Amino acid sequence: MTEMSDLTRLTAAETATGIASGAFSAVEVTEAHLARIEAVDEKVHAFLHVDREGALAAARAVDAKRERGERLGPLAGVPLALKDIFTTEGMPTTAGSKILEGWVPPYDATVTRRLREADVVILGKTNMDEFAMGSSTENSAYGPTGNPWDLTRIPGGSGGGSSASLASFQAPLAIGTDTGGSIRQPAAVTGTVGVKPTYGGVSRYGMVAFSSSLDQAGPCARTVLDAALLHSVIAGHDPMDSTSVDQPVPDVVAAAREGDVRGMRVGVVKEFRGEGYQSGVMQRFDESVALLRELGAEVVEVSCPSFTKALAAYYLIAPSECSSNLARFDAMRYGMRIGDDGTRSAEDVTAITREAGFGDEVKRRVMLGTYALSSGYYDAYYGSAQKVRTLITRDFARAFESVDVLVSPTTPTTAFPIGERADDPMAMYLADLCTIPSNLAGNAAMSLPSGLSPEDGLPVGLQIIAPAMADDRLYRVGAAVEAALQARWGHPLIEEAPSL
Ligand code: GLN
Repeated sequence: MTEMSDLTRLTAAETATGIASGAFSAVEVTEAHLARIEAVDEKVHAFLHVDREGALAAARAVDAKRERGERLGPLAGVPLALKDIFTTEGMPTTAGSKILEGWVPPYDATVTRRLREADVVILGKTNMDEFAMGSSTENSAYGPTGNPWDLTRIPGGSGGGSSASLASFQAPLAIGTDTGGSIRQPAAVTGTVGVKPTYGGVSRYGMVAFSSSLDQAGPCARTVLDAALLHSVIAGHDPMDSTSVDQPVPDVVAAAREGDVRGMRVGVVKEFRGEGYQSGVMQRFDESVALLRELGAEVVEVSCPSFTKALAAYYLIAPSECSSNLARFDAMRYGMRIGDDGTRSAEDVTAITREAGFGDEVKRRVMLGTYALSSGYYDAYYGSAQKVRTLITRDFARAFESVDVLVSPTTPTTAFPIGERADDPMAMYLADLCTIPSNLAGNAAMSLPSGLSPEDGLPVGLQIIAPAMADDRLYRVGAAVEAALQARWGHPLIEEAPSL
């Protein structure tokens, strides 16, 4: 039997193969991860809820299936950390908010259901910025998560719990959601891989809504192949989500296994450099671009002028949609209710509950969105933002006429210290400068490690962007870059993370 602690160091692909071949059992794998959580999560705080019994029961079921000689799924027995924004039947779901504290959903999200059907072992639910609003996980009502590379720094957000669980070897796989960058930015600052699939590629059914026209669930992992394996398990049409794409899922696993960029045309986004970009981030980015050339890609510079307005458009559209989506938290149907002492009107109970149940950032966004949608300002704000959205989509379309993928840094800086931007929303918003355009246009994008910044020794992310429904290109390019960089470093980047 392999050492228990070693089992937490394997990739998801290796873990699945080991379980299928009988080298170790799913129960052993799950126990090793539960022990790791026990040992380190007090410091990291990646999890809001650990489902020890449920995870072990799922693992036992996989082992029994194998003993009976039944066919196992590609990720059977592999542990996973699920962002606490997906409903899980019988398991608490808070979306990082006090207003949902103690709520146990009566149903599984489609993502949850597909994971269970694929025999993936769900370890528990991960910490996140409240309702996925933030870039640092500091907006969680349940306290921040530390970055395993340096616990005094942010693990990114909103999905900081998911990325931190990977970087601290508490899980080999995780699920995130990306409305403006919440899968990719946490991946970048923790040295992990995160993919925002094409909008509609993964079902939103049972995913707590933030900004419905932007929200997209996706895979998080330590390797490109692992992300592809998870992608293929969760993606695909779902009649329960009206915006779900009814087309075959691109073969992301084959693309990840191939990892060849010869003859591909790669565009470097001209707008994503300059003031505000850390020099070590740009150094690693430029090296990755040079590497793509060496690997046989044709690299050109591409201009997408409207991208400079993406952040402003996003901070009108996302708050507008959130002000509508969060109206459901009215203290009447589910979740927190306070002040209902028989003397107050329903409206007062709703108001008192929201005052106590929502955090500052959520309130700021609801107010902003309500204002932007008000009749006198609708055209000036929401209407203009939608026009910018169209321009951004056109910039992408024009770029993809001459290149197969675009590349940029994922985020302008490495992980910043906890507290540094907590009182400065504008500084916080800048973390998603490079990721937001893909949400506005609905195309696919990945972040993968491109090395450590020489100034601070912290991970840097390379972003790859592909046209809608060409998600496979992300994996083809990502796997090629990953293999070449690892050959150069002599090991996967994540091995370097200081052990806890
Ligand atoms: N950081 C961005 C925001 O605060 C994006 C969040 C996300 O992708 N969920 O809105």
